Amino acid sequence: MKTDKNCRIQTLAVHAGHDVDAATGAVTEGIHLSTTYERDPDGGYERGYMYGRNSNPNRFGLETALSALDGGAVAAAFSSGVAAAAAIFQGLMPGDHVIAPIDCYYGTARLLKQLFAKWNVSASFVDMTRLDTVRSNLTPDTKIIWIETPSNPLLRCVDIVALVELAHSHGARAVADNTFASPIVQRPLELGCDVVTYSTTKFLGGRGDVLGGVVVSKDDDEHFAQVRAAQAFGGAVPSPFDCWLLMRSLPTLPYRMQAHCDNAQRLAEFLHSHPKVSAVHYPGLEGDSSHAIAKQQMSHFGGMLSFEMEGGKPAAMAVAAKVQLFTRATSFGGVESLIEHHASMSGPDSTVPEALLRISAGLEHIDDLIDDISNALADSV
Ligand code: PLP
Repeated sequence: MKTDKNCRIQTLAVHAGHDVDAATGAVTEGIHLSTTYERDPDGGYERGYMYGRNSNPNRFGLETALSALDGGAVAAAFSSGVAAAAAIFQGLMPGDHVIAPIDCYYGTARLLKQLFAKWNVSASFVDMTRLDTVRSNLTPDTKIIWIETPSNPLLRCVDIVALVELAHSHGARAVADNTFASPIVQRPLELGCDVVTYSTTKFLGGRGDVLGGVVVSKDDDEHFAQVRAAQAFGGAVPSPFDCWLLMRSLPTLPYRMQAHCDNAQRLAEFLHSHPKVSAVHYPGLEGDSSHAIAKQQMSHFGGMLSFEMEGGKPAAMAVAAKVQLFTRATSFGGVESLIEHHASMSGPDSTVPEALLRISAGLEHIDDLIDDISNALADSV
């Protein structure tokens, strides 16, 4: 182990969870596909590995790295972001209650409404920009305040420290889905959260070629033991190859995030000044309603933005149809810029404006991105 807690995040991103292979001297780790491991003559497993669902060297390395990046004590990696979220909810008991954001990622809301409701775990979806609303929804059974900031797709930011205080003063835990920000941009555990979770499919993976999720816990406590149990007994583990791919992506994360954020800021500024655009949602804009809180709790303003067209849905669809460099696709956090008419894919309960397009700012040259969107806007109604 070359790193310690004092290392900067760039150093952790390169070294944490990586070790030179003792047997061969290989600097880059191999992929351990074996599902089973040899027992010692006495029947034990001195080398620490028994069976692939419980333990795998690639997954252990990834968990070490992801825990280090957020300053956590422990981490558990999953086969998707929703599997990670589900593992957190699986630690709840029938009768427990969760407070989640009204504009929560719809997959998380669906988990609560359609799966966990059946097990008598209830959820209230509230506007978390209003602390009085969160307070009035707390009950003696509230066990988790689920925080997502910035939110999807309106990029609204909520006050993490204030929500943590509210949670802790009522005996609940504060859990942050930090997927939109990444550990480079926002550090929920340092702001008091008990747990941080990610869809590693997004910025952490960075290439749109691996699905994954992780739960990072501030403490190796009984709550984390429940997450570990959900991982090993539930079995939603990532493959060794997926873990290896993620480990390959992490060293460049700090530098990719810087570029994603720079490009998002420039795109937001360009769109903000465009006459066919009626609103831009990006916390990096000084006039944005989330700017003040974002400045307080984020080191950059993130790689995601959204905007609304004066001409409503037809104009939004026309822009999405015209762009050349932006790919029309859902998801985010990859090297290529994506554009999405979000209302079309956010389910029947969606309140997302029909005029809204969401952008994941990729790593192309910013002048090319601006030229592309500018041409599409010029051609739109
Ligand atoms: N959390 C957020 C904020 C997301 O946007 C997503 C997916 O878009 C997820 C969790 C779920 O991740 P996955 O698709 O890896 O299951």
